[in-house]
Amino acid sequence: MAGKDYYEVLGVSKDASQAEIKKAYRQLSKKYHPDINKAPGAEEKFKEITEAYEVLSDEQKRSNYDQYGSADGPQGFGGAGAGGAGGFGGFGDAGGSFGGGGFEDIFSQFFGGGGGGGRRNPNAPQPGRDLQYEMTLKFEEAIFGKKTKIKYNRQAQCHTCHGSGAKPGTSPETCHNCGGSGYVTTETNTPLGRMRSQQPCPVCHGTGKEIKEKCPTCGGSGHEEERHEVEVNIPAGVDDGQQMRLQNQGEAGENGGPYGDLFILFSVQPSKVYTRDGADIYLDKDISFTQAALGDEINVQTVHGDVKLKIPAGTQTGSVFRLKGKGAPRLRGNGTGDERVTVKIATPKNLNKAQKVALKAYAEASGEKVGNGKGHFFDKMKDAFDN
Ligand SMILES: [Zn+2]
Ligand SMILES: [Zn+2]
Repeated sequence: MAGKDYYEVLGVSKDASQAEIKKAYRQLSKKYHPDINKAPGAEEKFKEITEAYEVLSDEQKRSNYDQYGSADGPQGFGGAGAGGAGGFGGFGDAGGSFGGGGFEDIFSQFFGGGGGGGRRNPNAPQPGRDLQYEMTLKFEEAIFGKKTKIKYNRQAQCHTCHGSGAKPGTSPETCHNCGGSGYVTTETNTPLGRMRSQQPCPVCHGTGKEIKEKCPTCGGSGHEEERHEVEVNIPAGVDDGQQMRLQNQGEAGENGGPYGDLFILFSVQPSKVYTRDGADIYLDKDISFTQAALGDEINVQTVHGDVKLKIPAGTQTGSVFRLKGKGAPRLRGNGTGDERVTVKIATPKNLNKAQKVALKAYAEASGEKVGNGKGHFFDKMKDAFDN
């Protein structure tokens, strides 16, 4: 991915704000997520997007990148580990996540130790990989919340060896080759002099451990794939693009580290009737000219059931009426949004004779000079009468 312009990858300008970067990332990552997009190259694109986002969302890395063309500054880019074997990357959310910890906290966990940093002890407990699950909700489900169960595959701790990778009754030993550090230093003579380089230990593959007798279930990995089911209690009022974190529902950790988390990303289907902006719900409602002129009481749909709305005499088209508390619940803080009803005055079509006569009388009573000039509405109407 070297040489790719991160700004181009996300389709944002060089001076894009963090909010713009998050928004672009959220849209693109939804589009190219390998669970959703099976087209060839989508996964590669997804990784690119994730890498670009990882850099541009971190002010320090971004500034390094702007200055040196690399997130790590002048010494070169170490390569980030996001979006690996499982095809999952970290997910951001412009609208705010909920259920503990802010977005930034979550993200720094995603990418903590992801590359460029110092060498870590291979025997230290490592939390497992976070997973992401996209959940589609109907418009009303997002407003009222629901309890549901989801199933997905994940790498769980092996039930036979409890993650050690060793056959029951045995335990892993410190690697004899590297002394448990997980890497070896080699020296080579080159025309430029002696070069020292560190490489992962070929015996333990960087784990620092040697397993003499491997666990028959997992073959030494300490992990096994499982079909995992979890109950999700979706809070009332979630919105499209928001996410929810379920702790420890991701993949098993290494060396006794905790499970990663599961992030549920909500995708809310549009309604045929309403539109929604945060906690407020919008509805367009047609009323007749006479209702608008004379006033009326009408029935209006809300997600909480029909309510009566008083239309005052002389209401203009485009007037907005607020139905307090008839919107979506607010996730944070109290209360519920409102429904805002925009009334549209429908011009009658295909008038019958009696209606035409009445309207003409109305026009006359208003002192309106309608019907002057050829092709005018009332001329046509008159023609229609004469025929
Ligand atoms: Zn095992
Ligand atoms: Zn070793």
